[in-house]
Order: sequence, then C-alpha cells, then structure tokens
Amino acid sequence: MEPHERISAKMSKFRPSLTLALKRLAEERRRQKLPVYDFGLGETKGELHEAIKQAGERAFHEQHTMYSDPAGMPELRQAVLKWLGQENAYGIDNVIISSGAKQSLFNTFLAICNPADCVLFDSAPWVSYQPLAVAAYAFPVQVIPRERHEQDLKIVPEDLERNLRMRPHAKLFLLNNPVNPTAQLYDQDEVNALLDVCVKHRIYFVYDRLYWRLVFDGRKFPEPRIDDRTRPWLIQIDGMSKNFRRTGGLRIGWAVAPDDTAKAMVNLQSHYTSGPATPTQVAAITAISQPYDQGLHDELQALRDLIQKESEGMPHTRVWPTPATFYSFWDVRACLGKRTPDGKTISSSDDVSEYLCTSSGVITASGTGFMQDGYLRLSFATPREDIVQGMAAAKDALGKLR
Ligand code: PLP
Repeated sequence: MEPHERISAKMSKFRPSLTLALKRLAEERRRQKLPVYDFGLGETKGELHEAIKQAGERAFHEQHTMYSDPAGMPELRQAVLKWLGQENAYGIDNVIISSGAKQSLFNTFLAICNPADCVLFDSAPWVSYQPLAVAAYAFPVQVIPRERHEQDLKIVPEDLERNLRMRPHAKLFLLNNPVNPTAQLYDQDEVNALLDVCVKHRIYFVYDRLYWRLVFDGRKFPEPRIDDRTRPWLIQIDGMSKNFRRTGGLRIGWAVAPDDTAKAMVNLQSHYTSGPATPTQVAAITAISQPYDQGLHDELQALRDLIQKESEGMPHTRVWPTPATFYSFWDVRACLGKRTPDGKTISSSDDVSEYLCTSSGVITASGTGFMQDGYLRLSFATPREDIVQGMAAAKDALGKLR
C-alpha cells in the first residue's frame, strides 16, 4: 500500500476543527507565559451548577453506568420535550439523545442523505456542518443572499428558491438560529417563510437552535411552526453545550424528528455508539428539568454590552450588533491589503487573526472557517477584564496597520 493510500481520500482532505485548533493555540501561548485574550472557542465558563454536579455524582453512586436505550434514557427524552415546550407536539419516540449536537447533525445527514444528495446551508455555515455532510457522502452548498446587507448575512425565501431550482437533489436546508458565527437572529416571520419553502419543495428544514436561550434585549426565540404540514419535514437540533455554564464536555445533544427519520437515527446510533454516556444523561435530566437559571443569559448580555462599548472605534473594523449568542462578529475587510509593522501584507481574515494573535495575544476565529473570508468571530464568554484589556490590545494592533 502506498503512503497516500493509508488514509481514505475523503479523510485526507479533512482539517482539524478550527475552534479546537484555537484552544490549542491559546494553551500554547499560556504555556510560554505570553499574554492571551482568548475570544476563540465558543464555550461558556464559570461554575457548573450545583444541581448538575450532584446529579453527576449521584449517577455514579447509584451506578447508572450500564447501557441506556440507544435513543437515550426515556426520562431524558421526556425532559427534552418539556424543555422545548413541545410535549403536545411530539412523543418521546421523536427524540434521539446523542453525544453532542454534532452527532445529532451527523445522524441527520446519515439518516436522510443518499450519496451526492445536496444539503443547503445558510450563508455563514458553522465550521463543522460541511465536514459532517461530506463525511455522510452528501454535497454541501452554501446559500448566499443575493442582496448583501450592511450588517447581516441573512438569506430570504427567494435565495433558497433559487438554489432549489438549481439543485433538484437537495434533501435539506439547515438553518442555525441564532447564528454562530454572525450572532444574527432570524425573526419569527423569516423562520416561518424559510420553513414554508422547505415544506412546499418537500425537503427537510433542519433547525439548529443550540443557542436558543441566549436571545437578548427581551426578544423572543422564534419557535418553528409545528403542525401536520410541517411536522414531516422539520428536524430540530439542540443540546447541553451552550445554554448552561461549563457543560460542553457532557457531550449531550438531541434531535427532535418525524417518526421515520427518528427511527432511522436510532437504528444507526444503536450500531455506532449505543447511545451517549449514561451518567451525563442523568446530569442532563437535572439540568433541563429545573427552572432555567437566567444568570448566564443576563451575564452574557452584560458582556455583550461591554464588548460593544470597548470595541467602539476599532480601527478598520465594523462590529456587527449581537442580538443573541455570545459572539461578536467583525467585518475586517478594510484590513485586507494593509501592511503589518514588520512588512507583511494582510490578504485574508486568516492573516488578520494570525496578526492579532502573534502581535498582542488576541485570539479570534477567522471567518474562513465559516466560509466568510474578511470577517472575524470573537466569543465574549470570557472574563470582563480580558474583554477590556483584549479590546485595547486589538485597537493598538489594528491601529498599526498601514
Ligand atoms: N451547532 C452549532 C451552531 C454550534 O455552534 C455547535 C458547537 O459549537 C454545535 C452545533 C455542536 O455542538 P456540540 O458541542 O453539542 O456537539
């Protein structure tokens, strides 16, 4: 076997997840005792809720360590329906618990796509959508808005219709709302209009609502319309990773899907994971069954205000509004073509991101990971002092571009 044949052609094209690479970069700088203002990885911090800690401990004590139902523990599936307020719309057989929302997405692609079926993504797709679709032998396509707006990248039904005319093999449209990385929020009418297009064309509308509790300034999260017409085409993706503190590593996510697709996902999961780890399922039951602690939401809203204030006047940068999530999205296209103090020409947002990191320890995620070169994503789920100092360091560094 030749060296290039040792890894499959498909996998040899894969790069490590951008966001996890950022985590390593920040750790490396910390190890070298260099300054780090870490806006890279999208992960909430702070203390794990006491009740979740205790539930996890109890799970081991009470020996919840055997295999669970491959679809997930029935109590957790019921709790998910209550958490979503959808107990009257679905039964527990429509809920499949997985090892994180990533696996729920992969299950979705594997369950419904034949090789080369097209999957349509929104204009700034989250980093792992494309690799997961490709791993499922599907063909990912990014839907671009025909009319470009100043401060959002939202698509409208006509954009989706245009793509569907060109792609008769489209199987699904995936909308992440609120959006990672742009932080934009599609409103109720916009969501319903895109859902209607999917139903009309008999393709799935996959709604990744992973940040749905983190919607600011009194806005309401747009629930998808669930009725007899939409139910066969609607798949919702959600999980534990973003709406709580420090829970990404529990690796619990879920999909809520129509009967046939749910069954296909469970069959699949019964062969490759037998369901997620039982102790963290027990912890998740507690987390989503108790009244939702608004503390994280309120803290993130205050940090959103802080980063918006501290980033005012950022050289060569337009900072977009953040109505939801914990991301600040920066348009840095005005930096392209400029030179750094040591003479390097900036030609992409990768270069801006690298320059900010190496010159001042400001870690950001480049838009290229989200198919949007010219932009940066900054996660502000980080201490206040890091935001204040990090914004000052970024202003200083970007101000030196000529
Ligand atoms: N969907 C979106 C939009 C995300 O931002 C992420 C994680 O960052 C995921 C899915 C995957 O979540 P999980 O960590 O639960 O697998």
